[in-house]
Amino acid sequence: MTVNHFADIILPFAVKGTFTYSIPGEIAGHISTGSRVLVQFGGRKLYSGIVYRIHDETPSSLNIRPVSRVLDPYPVVNEIQLKLWLWISEYYMCSIGEVMKAALPSDLCLEGVSEIHVPEKYRPREEPFIRLSSDFTDDELNEILDKLAKAPVQLKILTAFLELSGYAENKVNRAVNKSVLLKEAHSSPGSIDGLLRKGILSVLLQETGRLTDFISPFEPIKQLSEEQERAFNTVSGIFREKDIALLHGVTSSGKTEIYIHLIEEQLKLGRQVLYLLPEIALTTQIIQRLYKHFSPVTGIYHSRFSNAERVEIWNRVAGLDPGKDYRLIIGARSALFLPFHNLGLVIVDEEHDGSYKQHDPSPRYHARDSAIVLAGLHKAKTVLGSASPSIESYNNALSGKYGLTELKERFGSIKLPEIILANSREAYRKKLMVSHFTPQLLEAMDEALGKNEQIILFQNRRGFSPYIECPECGWIPKCIQCAVSLTYHKGIGRMVCHYCGFSASIPSQCGNCQSPGLSTRGFGTEKIEDEIKIVFPAARVARMDQDTTKGKKSFDKIIRALEERQTDILIGTQMISKGLDIENLTVVGVLNADNLLNYPDFRAHERSFQLMEQVSGRAGRRQKQGKVIIQTSDPDNKIIRLVLKHDYKNMFRIQMEERRAFNYPPFCRMIKISIRHKERDLLNSFSDLLGRDLRKTFGKNILGPEFPLISQVQLWYIKTILIKLERERPVAPAKKLITEAISRLEKEKGASALKIGIDVDPY
Ligand code: ADP
Ligand code: ZN
Ligand code: ZN
Repeated sequence: MTVNHFADIILPFAVKGTFTYSIPGEIAGHISTGSRVLVQFGGRKLYSGIVYRIHDETPSSLNIRPVSRVLDPYPVVNEIQLKLWLWISEYYMCSIGEVMKAALPSDLCLEGVSEIHVPEKYRPREEPFIRLSSDFTDDELNEILDKLAKAPVQLKILTAFLELSGYAENKVNRAVNKSVLLKEAHSSPGSIDGLLRKGILSVLLQETGRLTDFISPFEPIKQLSEEQERAFNTVSGIFREKDIALLHGVTSSGKTEIYIHLIEEQLKLGRQVLYLLPEIALTTQIIQRLYKHFSPVTGIYHSRFSNAERVEIWNRVAGLDPGKDYRLIIGARSALFLPFHNLGLVIVDEEHDGSYKQHDPSPRYHARDSAIVLAGLHKAKTVLGSASPSIESYNNALSGKYGLTELKERFGSIKLPEIILANSREAYRKKLMVSHFTPQLLEAMDEALGKNEQIILFQNRRGFSPYIECPECGWIPKCIQCAVSLTYHKGIGRMVCHYCGFSASIPSQCGNCQSPGLSTRGFGTEKIEDEIKIVFPAARVARMDQDTTKGKKSFDKIIRALEERQTDILIGTQMISKGLDIENLTVVGVLNADNLLNYPDFRAHERSFQLMEQVSGRAGRRQKQGKVIIQTSDPDNKIIRLVLKHDYKNMFRIQMEERRAFNYPPFCRMIKISIRHKERDLLNSFSDLLGRDLRKTFGKNILGPEFPLISQVQLWYIKTILIKLERERPVAPAKKLITEAISRLEKEKGASALKIGIDVDPY
């Protein structure tokens, strides 16, 4: 018999590898791979860690400490999760401890404590729900309804119940929230008592908590149209041979309905489904749609939930909460770390979206790519969906690595929106602009408002105006700790740094030439909101950006007001570009396409196309064709021309040519090293040292070191080195060489004052 004396433990540090502890006899029976344990590390501080491996190989170090205790009665992490963590740490060149920190709800991660506090347990809120007291047959039900003819109020309530629960149609005895039922039946709380007394309905307490607002009547899933059916069958066909299918469907073609059919199929097989969305703002509407079909088994997971709630969702996905397990999880990128035990399908909606990439802190992972790996570990399938797929994914589809299916028409044969270019430079010159609005946009808005239709205006910057400038000498107030100009926020009357949050009051005079009268330049969402209220004084205006969506429910409120037609004009940043499905919304204005196109990044054109395509996809989704007005000073720009024709394929072709010519992904792999130091000169010499070292191995594949666009953040100067690796080159050995070069640098005298970050696929 082998005795397992040692455990390799993952601890929440940025140091590579695991840490070995001995297993005292009294806990040997309670510890296994994936257990969460408490250990001492450095001094007397306690940390929680996850057991990676149990073995009896005596470590060389003499100074092995024992595991202090096992924290839970069951392993918190399963073997597949550990494999995913390992993959992420190797691929994205970070420690497995950093992955653990990103993966676990923070209540499960104790760091440097001197004693353990037991985190508060999440207490769900319970509310009365109503259900049929038994599964009546049609005959029985008809008899009951007949008898109620003399009690019209009760009849009304029962009819409303049958409607809401879906019992009339599907014979599922689903409980309905009592207050929702009473509202639907326009009845008072007492009026339900008769039905309870007669034993027709019964009450039970059911948890609502985080989801109260989403209780929506059950609906059977929709029948697919012929084109959707064909796409659905193609996906099923692809899955017989491949693991990944790309669903390229124009906006409003009904991709979500296809996902719903795929989800149903998996749930019937008893498997779990992960539905990833790039942005939590989007979850509101999608949740409502999915809840109609799958509410009892659907969970939501993202950063807006409290720690206690997240622990609870974690347990439900693991199946540790008997009878309450979640099998469909909707979430933003961190949802991929949940303890799935039987995953059948991953859906990555809006797969092209940049928010799937975590830039800071480490692990700098891409949730789409990691989700594909997760699916592979579960032998599950992945569907990537988009109206304008990323260049990489589309390339993978064309090369046969992924299967491809397309939906070229909107559901119900609604035409894609008409796109109108409005030349803002010319309008300024001819003095036709009203504030920041061209005559074309104003006309379209007037027309829509006249018909009580709704409008969204997209502006990629929040705040009042991006910056303040001295009209005399051009001086611009900058953040004291970052090399960026401050953004003027009129609501709070201050200038704010969007990188570090620093804020300052508005100077009364120029900081350079002391002349008074600084002026505001450019415009953000807040300024547009102000101007719209002047131009359209009768319209009801709302704004959705980071500043107006700080609260947990603020997204819901804004979106609900739009759905219920309480808002005529919604102004927002890219948050509003995705996913929204509003029936009465017919006009979309893109206020300034130029600052999208001119962003200095190899993906700027691809991203602008995707964003414009997507935001215009919000217009005219139901009855009639929508209108999109794009304001630009450069109407001949080739990307804008392609958006005009919704011409994805040519955008792809042109982008591929450019990427090949300038050697960008997918033709190479990129790894970016960023080096920070508080002193500029020392940063220069250390980064030059690393650059020279790397050049010895990688030669002309090394670009930089150079100062990035934002060269200082929070007092740290930044330099970056970019490594472009040939696609054919095996990547693991190259990563090893890079790691070695960095360790050499770290051994240099004074190098401990550096912060070094590695970003694999930094885009
Ligand atoms: P996408 O996800 O491609 O943007 P959606 O799935 O949101 O498209 O579909 C657009 C609109 O058309 C939605 O309001 C949706 O409910 C409706 N729709 C799509 N497919 C069907 C269908 N088969 N039956 C009824 N309505 C549908
Ligand atoms: Zn700053
Ligand atoms: Zn000045």
